Amino acid sequence: CGIVGYIGKRQAYPILIKGLKRLEYRGYDSAGVALINENNDLGVYKAKGKVSVLEAVAEKGDTTGCMGIAHTRWATHGVPSEANAHPHVSQSGNLTLVHNGIIENYATLREQLIERGYQFKSETDTEVLVQLIDYIMTTNDVNLATAVRSALNQVFGAYAIAVIDSRHPEQLIAARKSSPLAVGVVEDNSEFFLASDASPIAEYTMQIVYLNDEEMAIMECGKPLQVFKLNGEATDAVVKEVDVDLSMLD
Ligand code: GLU
Repeated sequence: CGIVGYIGKRQAYPILIKGLKRLEYRGYDSAGVALINENNDLGVYKAKGKVSVLEAVAEKGDTTGCMGIAHTRWATHGVPSEANAHPHVSQSGNLTLVHNGIIENYATLREQLIERGYQFKSETDTEVLVQLIDYIMTTNDVNLATAVRSALNQVFGAYAIAVIDSRHPEQLIAARKSSPLAVGVVEDNSEFFLASDASPIAEYTMQIVYLNDEEMAIMECGKPLQVFKLNGEATDAVVKEVDVDLSMLD
């Protein structure tokens, strides 16, 4: 299973698909991609089976856009199916999220959200995350980063997540606990690459920030990568120069 994300000036879709293929070795049962195009429209495509099946589905739709997230799923809660494949979209239709790991207390959170009027479209533990972030944003009038941090502080389990808001396509947010995530950065901060490991990133940049446990990253073009601890403390992003033999990847 794996996560890939991109925000910048290039078309995101080819980068995301190539990245998912680089992560195929980790194993998965379904795959999906979400893109925000230049009109801020969200396109979400999912498929059970191989990344090549996802490509066939996605390429019937609009795959344009300079930011997006993608996922390969190894089902833990809910059968492998298109409905359970990630990305998951919040009830408001604004937020989209991918997740690797397990949310241990999802049943309690799901019940609370259903009481508050949320309807669930999948059987996954993951969907509570996107609905909870949505709920926090709408009821407390806070920004995405604050809502993500607040939601993750209510969650037990293991996760690597990436989340986007179609109202704010300038930002890509990621966080992790007990599941790896790497961010590829470039000198002028004009683009960011996100992935479960360096293999989808190394052909674009060797400058990589490995997020530590319980850290969150805000990727925003034109600004340096912002990294926070989930308890709210600021922390410095430590950039490592990776040494990946690109010929080994192909
Ligand atoms: N627990 C989540 C699910 O079953 C994520 C699984 C994964 O790590 O891919 O959908």
